[in-house]
Amino acid sequence: MPAPTRRARAAKSTQPISVVAGAAGFLGSHLTDLLLSRGHRVIGLDNFITGAVDNIAHLGGNPNFKFIQQDVTEFIFLNEPVNYVWHFASPASPVDYLEFPIQTLKVGSLGTHKTLGLAKEKGARFLIASTSEIYGDPLVHPQTESYWGNVNTIGPRGCYDEAKRFAEALTMAYHREHGVPTRIVRIFNTYGPRMRLRDGRVVPAFISQALTGKPLTVFGQGTQTRSFCYCSDLIEGIYRLMMCEDQTANFPVNIGNPSELTMLEFAQAIIQATGSKSKIVFKPLPQDDPKQRRPDITRARQLLADWQPQVPLAEGLEKTIAFFRGKV
Ligand code: UDP
Repeated sequence: MPAPTRRARAAKSTQPISVVAGAAGFLGSHLTDLLLSRGHRVIGLDNFITGAVDNIAHLGGNPNFKFIQQDVTEFIFLNEPVNYVWHFASPASPVDYLEFPIQTLKVGSLGTHKTLGLAKEKGARFLIASTSEIYGDPLVHPQTESYWGNVNTIGPRGCYDEAKRFAEALTMAYHREHGVPTRIVRIFNTYGPRMRLRDGRVVPAFISQALTGKPLTVFGQGTQTRSFCYCSDLIEGIYRLMMCEDQTANFPVNIGNPSELTMLEFAQAIIQATGSKSKIVFKPLPQDDPKQRRPDITRARQLLADWQPQVPLAEGLEKTIAFFRGKV
């Protein structure tokens, strides 16, 4: 093999190195793809509790991607420099965190501790994937970053909400105490290819029901609202946040799509987009299900070079439905 040219060596040495915890998950794998496309070398970590090999299989043989199967609540040892640490590891659907409440609490607390420790050790910048769930069942609408939330600590969603609230607090503590450059993104409902068919979230649930001609299960009266962001819009906003040099960038930023729908409207949109003959049935509303959710993205737009969602719901659904057609 010919020796690398000086230019190739220089390019190699300035190549940013990112660690993505949760790289085999829905969002972690899309983030990994974006980082690779922007010239990063990526070290992906995942223990496959809710992640899937399928999400990263296309990266096999990519010299810029290395995968380590690891639970990030355990000590993370990496014998190489790291510039960016992205903590995206966590069960993220209400069904998943009911099944794995202790792992959910551990990855949000111990996993955040370990990934922050890695960033501190390497002198890297750190970003935590937080969530709109930290607002709980919000009493302020739309949700601004200055709202402190309305969370039931001991309810079925408490394991996720409180783990993420702890993760934000720990991130701020590492920033203040150790000077680690940190970012906190509060992710609102996101959808797209690579969601798990049976993760229980409304997007895969409705699409798989519509594609198989089963009734769509709307919980409660279907009057509760959500605002759905397509995955590529979300990941672009998060990438910009990590790279943002603004002095206030360490404070939380909402990323999501502010166009809000009731779950009944959403069920109708899915029936229309799939051309399904499925009916709608009503099922009991799960405990502590937030009644409304919509991000105020004013801060993101100001901070992130006028970032805003580009993909309309119809277009995002078309891509997501195409993905699920191959899965049902
Ligand atoms: N939902 C529904 N039918 C389903 C699954 C979910 O009506 O089969 C509702 C759920 O009650 C909630 C909304 O859809 O109001 C979004 O639920 P999801 O689990 O996707 O995430 P959440 O935003 O609650 O974390």
